[in-house]
Amino acid sequence: MAWNVKSTRMPVIFVGHGSPMNAIEDNASSRAWKRLGEEIPRPSVILSISAHWETRGTKVTGMAKPRTIYDFWGFPDTLYKMKYPAAGSPALAKLVAKQLVGIGVGLDTEWGLDHGTWIVLARMYPRADIPVVQLSLDYTVPGQKHFEIGKSLAELRERGVLILGSGNIVHNLGMMQLSEGGYDWAIEFDEMIKRLLIEGKDATIIDYEALPRSHLPIPTPEHFLPLLYIIGAKHPSDRLRFVAENIVYGSVSMRCAVFE
Ligand code: ZN
Repeated sequence: MAWNVKSTRMPVIFVGHGSPMNAIEDNASSRAWKRLGEEIPRPSVILSISAHWETRGTKVTGMAKPRTIYDFWGFPDTLYKMKYPAAGSPALAKLVAKQLVGIGVGLDTEWGLDHGTWIVLARMYPRADIPVVQLSLDYTVPGQKHFEIGKSLAELRERGVLILGSGNIVHNLGMMQLSEGGYDWAIEFDEMIKRLLIEGKDATIIDYEALPRSHLPIPTPEHFLPLLYIIGAKHPSDRLRFVAENIVYGSVSMRCAVFE
């Protein structure tokens, strides 16, 4: 084993990441992420499933030094000058590939850490001293498959791996507005997912397209899908807590769910 294996089971976390500005702005989300980094057991290595890496087939970053990716446009220079110089973990990448045998995971050498990963980790672990590996979203497979991959990864929690899903439960950029509060449909959908998470109704969440008016909160699936990995990787004895639950720009839910 290439890292210190912890005896405690690591939590699994879904983070609503929202705007790249959360890397530098002081707000409810950035404060919640910072607190979370201080509260949970320190991971040996982090496996991040970000909304911003979609591929045909599942891939895992295998490089020793992943680059910081600036996959956003029109933001202040400060953001483009930020770096998140965490190491990669080729050992974890190989282990993930082994764990997902039958799925056919490709070892990637080109991606790195996109903003779905690094803006959150810049708050949770500002020293960037924990290795990070990203796992991609295969855009060709249904929700059930994403959930099953999460399930196959669950065992890594026993080995000091923090599994982080980064997206947004409600994410409709086309309908963003500057006034306070959320659209009714955004609040209702976010609350419904909260209830389903509390009640452990995984099958209903996995079949999200069948949920009422889901085309508004989920016009495209990539920000919702990381949640399916997280519910896949949860353990029956986990407790669930929400460390952020606000809606910003009317149509983006910042809900953050921790199973621990
Ligand atoms: Zn995003």
